[in-house]
Amino acid sequence: MATMVADQEITQSRLSDADAWYAVERRDARYDGRFVYAVASTKVYCRPSCPSRRPSRANVSFYATPDDAERGGYRACLRCRPRNGSALSEAHATIERARRYLDKHSDRIVSLSELAEAVGLSTSHLQRSFKQVVGISPKAYQEANRVRRFKTRNISATSSSLLWSRERLRHNDTAGW
Ligand SMILES: [Zn+2]
Repeated sequence: MATMVADQEITQSRLSDADAWYAVERRDARYDGRFVYAVASTKVYCRPSCPSRRPSRANVSFYATPDDAERGGYRACLRCRPRNGSALSEAHATIERARRYLDKHSDRIVSLSELAEAVGLSTSHLQRSFKQVVGISPKAYQEANRVRRFKTRNISATSSSLLWSRERLRHNDTAGW
């Protein structure tokens, strides 16, 4: 069940069915490798960018991987060949690794060159692809991680310490702060 674990790790980027369908409607190649869609009427599954005619939404279901679709009784489309990793889906996998690396080291600032070395890309390529896939730069991603951790920590703070800091704030107020 190793793939299940890997899927779990990517849950952050898990798509809703509505998002997936939107990607299919636009034949968005950026989603290739992230899921496949299966068509009940033809028993065929495709990558999001497949050039074939769009099926009606009612006939479509989504699977995370070609294996899942095949377990569901579908066969790979001969046109878009969803089993073959495209250059794009390989890029996705690399960026996913970069993202996991940042998540793992979220307690410190990871430089672009360190990250590039960790995933085996040039810094400029990494910067560009990361932004394309994730939507923000590695730096902004780390910032967002930090903010999230900060919020989590604050929520777990006890109410007494919150009271205490409010008390201290008031104190500072009167002290002319
Ligand atoms: Zn297809």
